[in-house]
Amino acid sequence: MTQMDTRRNAIAAAIAWSDINTNNRNTELPDVQSFFGEDVFSIRTMRERLPKGAFKAIQQTIEQGAKLDPHIADIVSTAMKDWAVERGATHYTHWFQPLTGATAEKHDSLISPDGEGGMIYELSGDSLVQGEPDASSFPSGGLRATFEARGYTAWDPSSPAFIARTDATATLCIPTAFVSWTGEALDKKTPLLRSMETLSRQVVRLLRIFGNEHTTHVMSTLGCEQEYFLVDTNLYYARPDLVSCERTLFGARPPKGQQLADHYFGSIPPRVLAFMAEVEHELYRVGVPVKTRHNEVAPGQYEIAPIFEVANVAADHQMLMMETIRRVAPRYGFKAILHEKPFAGHNGSGKHMNWSMSTDGGTNLLDPRDDTHSNMQFLTLLCAVIRAVDIHADLLRASVASASNDHRLGANEAPPAIISIFLGDMLSDIVAQIEKGATNRTIKSSTLDLGATTLPMIPRDTGDRNRTSPFAFTGNKFEFRAVGSSGTAAWPATVLNTIVAESIEFVAGELEKAAGKDPTPVKLETAVKKVLQQIIKEHKRVIFDGDNYSEEWHKEAKKRGLPILTNCTEAFPALTSRKAVAMFKKQRVLSKSELESRANIFMENYTLHCLIESEQMVLIAKTMILPAALRHQARIAETVAQTEAAGVDASDTRELLTSFADLTARFRRKLEQLDEADNTRIEDPTEMAQYIKNKIHPLMTELRTLGDELETQVASDLWPLPSYRELMFLK
Ligand code: ADP
Ligand code: MG
Repeated sequence: MTQMDTRRNAIAAAIAWSDINTNNRNTELPDVQSFFGEDVFSIRTMRERLPKGAFKAIQQTIEQGAKLDPHIADIVSTAMKDWAVERGATHYTHWFQPLTGATAEKHDSLISPDGEGGMIYELSGDSLVQGEPDASSFPSGGLRATFEARGYTAWDPSSPAFIARTDATATLCIPTAFVSWTGEALDKKTPLLRSMETLSRQVVRLLRIFGNEHTTHVMSTLGCEQEYFLVDTNLYYARPDLVSCERTLFGARPPKGQQLADHYFGSIPPRVLAFMAEVEHELYRVGVPVKTRHNEVAPGQYEIAPIFEVANVAADHQMLMMETIRRVAPRYGFKAILHEKPFAGHNGSGKHMNWSMSTDGGTNLLDPRDDTHSNMQFLTLLCAVIRAVDIHADLLRASVASASNDHRLGANEAPPAIISIFLGDMLSDIVAQIEKGATNRTIKSSTLDLGATTLPMIPRDTGDRNRTSPFAFTGNKFEFRAVGSSGTAAWPATVLNTIVAESIEFVAGELEKAAGKDPTPVKLETAVKKVLQQIIKEHKRVIFDGDNYSEEWHKEAKKRGLPILTNCTEAFPALTSRKAVAMFKKQRVLSKSELESRANIFMENYTLHCLIESEQMVLIAKTMILPAALRHQARIAETVAQTEAAGVDASDTRELLTSFADLTARFRRKLEQLDEADNTRIEDPTEMAQYIKNKIHPLMTELRTLGDELETQVASDLWPLPSYRELMFLK
């Protein structure tokens, strides 16, 4: 079979897929309520199955972060095991998130010999609470040497255990943190949990200043909108670049892409809808509250979004969501692509991370709709966030930096690499008033409460949306849109929680200084006005409500002195800046060595990804595109020879041959340059990254341009790679 046959067969198989598979599916519609959360060892299940005292204790741990007595762990592990076995589980695993960006699991069976030739099911409290995977191959960024490779997993009771199923087996998954034997974080969950604690501590302190005596715990909440592409499996396997890089390294722009915006919110193709429904059912079963599904802007691009949850659980569910999408897609003949930019020139995929803070009583602290009293509190929190984002814009940017997100940020319809905040007309106006120190607009006195007459009321809809902003206030939460589709939510959420905690600590300190620990309403209001005024004066440069895609904004941002970090090599240094190290340490989220190890891993990961891409590109160019081009060239040459042999003038075709041969030659020379450049290896990851950025990437861009030009000239029957049209439209 030749390579052209591979492409042809893939296309035929893709077209045939729906006919073969959609007709004999089970069409009975399930009642979601009857199975939602059935594979979760939830609060409800625990209440039903645990003795009262044990349940109370575990509830305290989950809701307030109280330490769990080992004796209680024994009771919980037995109940958990009984429940899991009843539901068909034979194995359990500590499920964790190492710094690879994926999740990791090592299964152990629940089976123990009974000493009489039989077996019993068993899960001890110890095995629930702690595990020791042989984890020496996970990246530690220098925190561990391989000879001291011990890593421990530690149960996170605040994220519920669940059962993962395949047709063949069911496994009890216990969410865990992953730390080194000296207690240093080796994962994404540990710092997230720490950041939630510090945020809670600081916000509660602020709430006390505003007279709230009952809130003891504040949680950050997350809702992540996940975008992804679906590509027919047959076509996917005919594209080595998709297989090894999840993005196309070549591909000419198709005449019809997303220009007509006719895919966005369009009717969902039946095969895709069937896939989505199955993903949702699997997620419902493990308690992920999926809410929204729709077509996205690029052809072949879709979105799934859940209802928000407490950050830690939401981040775990976010991982489950990505895994489920990947796992279910092949059942419908698809490969799911979570890469941020699989198709050049088309919309990339993001993971809009909605973020807010909620009290243990369930009050959303970023909802401005309450009375003026909490309005003052709201404005204080708002200004604290503005301050945090301005001071740590570089760090926020670095928290979403990856080799793949580099292709998205600043490209088609994705937010730019400049972090700014969108507030909307109304809030921007209010912020302007705060800056002036008094309101200059008439506010109906009937809508105001005592004690804060100069602070404006905030109406329900605080203004229009701005889709171009990387960090937008959307009514009662912030939406961090620069987060990439393939990354975890845990890390950007950790950074956001920590910078806001630091900022609130500062604001609370200033308020206490100005008004005392237990201020009168009037004193407090005066202090709030003064402190917020100062914050706005210093940090308003980060607020921008205009078009973030425009050239002018780049110029303006530069003028304002905002960091413009367009790629990983520019962004990563922010992770270990003195400012970042001091903050993470002070907020007790990451030590200097933990932070540095992370930065090392991210940089190394970046170079590895880039090198895989350039090597893959060379291979495709050498073994697929160049042979096709030469074959095409030979065809033209034969035509010239045959035409002339027949005694006819072939000068026109000869011209074509000359220009095509020239294109092929340029392609081949560029290919050689890239191949050559690819051989260089530099020990230091940062220097290697610089080399990639300055040397390899420009060559890749040039080679791609020539390759894409060839695609538009080589006879279609000779071209080996499925085209953009086929990849994006066949389903
Ligand atoms: P949009 O207008 O952006 O579509 P939605 O109301 O549909 O907004 O919410 C988008 C995402 O934001 C959802 O995942 C939703 O659960 C989440 N979200 C809503 N409120 C909050 C909140 N208080 N904290 C965190 N996420 C939230
Ligand atoms: Mg949204």
